[in-house]
Amino acid sequence: MTNPLCLRGGRVLDPARGIDRVQDLWIEDGKIAGLGEDAPAALRGNKAVEIIDVKGAVVCPGLIDIHVHLREPGQEEKETIATGTRAAVRGGFTTVACMPNTSPPLDDRPRVEYVVRRARESGACHVLPIGAVTIGQEGNALVEFEDLASAGVIAFTDDGKPVKNAEIMRRALELTKPLGVPIIQHAEDPDLKGNGVVHEGWVSTRTGLKGIPDTAESVMVARDALLAEATGGRVHVAHMSAARTVEILRRAKERGIPMTGETTPHHLVLTDEAVATYDTNTKMNPPLRSARDREALLQGVVDGTIDCLATDHAPHTDIDKDGDFDNAPFGIVGLETALGLYLKALVEPKHLSLSDLILRMTRNPLAVLGREGGTLAAGLPADVTVFDPEQRWTVRAEEFASKAKNMPFEGWELSGTILLTLVGGRIAYRAEVPAGRA
Ligand SMILES: [Zn+2]
Repeated sequence: MTNPLCLRGGRVLDPARGIDRVQDLWIEDGKIAGLGEDAPAALRGNKAVEIIDVKGAVVCPGLIDIHVHLREPGQEEKETIATGTRAAVRGGFTTVACMPNTSPPLDDRPRVEYVVRRARESGACHVLPIGAVTIGQEGNALVEFEDLASAGVIAFTDDGKPVKNAEIMRRALELTKPLGVPIIQHAEDPDLKGNGVVHEGWVSTRTGLKGIPDTAESVMVARDALLAEATGGRVHVAHMSAARTVEILRRAKERGIPMTGETTPHHLVLTDEAVATYDTNTKMNPPLRSARDREALLQGVVDGTIDCLATDHAPHTDIDKDGDFDNAPFGIVGLETALGLYLKALVEPKHLSLSDLILRMTRNPLAVLGREGGTLAAGLPADVTVFDPEQRWTVRAEEFASKAKNMPFEGWELSGTILLTLVGGRIAYRAEVPAGRA
């Protein structure tokens, strides 16, 4: 049981319902009870309600990240469901969807049930498991889609790897279509990728690091667009990085093909120039690409071609990342810096309004999964994020709740300080700086 709460005097932003106004948000029995005058009079008159002053702050639906690697089971030295979800609520996220490339992968019912149970026991926020497409993520035999969906799986992916075989992808789309869930594609042609480690271009030539052409991604997205059109199954393109990919997705949507896409903070704030430092924290897959690719991604986010914003939170230990550039693993952590980096990439340069950014981090990711929610409508679970869009903070990995510290943003000054994260009406995170200071 949670206490009734009132978040007093914040700017309530609920973009999916066109709401942007200073008013109180009332919470009872873990659910949204109403906004301002619309809340039940009995609750507004109840002296037992805990009042939290959030004047000057934004109150919005809890942020949702559909691309997170929690590493449990099997790689608990990198991250666990407990630490990953604590990082999530510190970053303002109330729901994360976790990727199945654990050890072993989430390709059968007991493994999915294990994650669901661990999330209930140790999770600080909601965890939606994503299942593998193929057994062992080996690209050959398909999983039991219906069985996994009934165990709680909300989408399927072999992320970490692509579904390379077109016939396997075609059958996966046919079988998941009646379930109404997408296949999330880690779009990458393995032959074009080869043993590349950075974007193929001027920087790879200059540094001598082996390149991955942008076509490694877009060739597979073009193929998947044709398969989605032919089958009617839904494809969601993970971590889009290349201009050509944006263009293919834009055309596919114009043709009515059931396809969606996401990108990450790092692909919007950095280019391949960052890898010239040989810092292994700039090594991610897909790689940081050219300034032209970055511009196309920004345009794709603005015009809605790219539906939602994720993180691809990919924790690794310091030891993993300490090797030389060629041998270090791909990926960076992102949950605790996502809002600040998206504000920097999209809102501060006035590409997007704050409301349009929040839409892409709340309602839109759930829509991609074919799910309801992501709003502050009365009766929904009180998953709420409160942040100060102006208050600046400095990125310090040592302060992260995540077990992992691998990211290239150490010392960056960002705006968007998370003040309070409510999960089902319970305070899952509260900043030490008191909310509502003058
Ligand atoms: Zn991936």
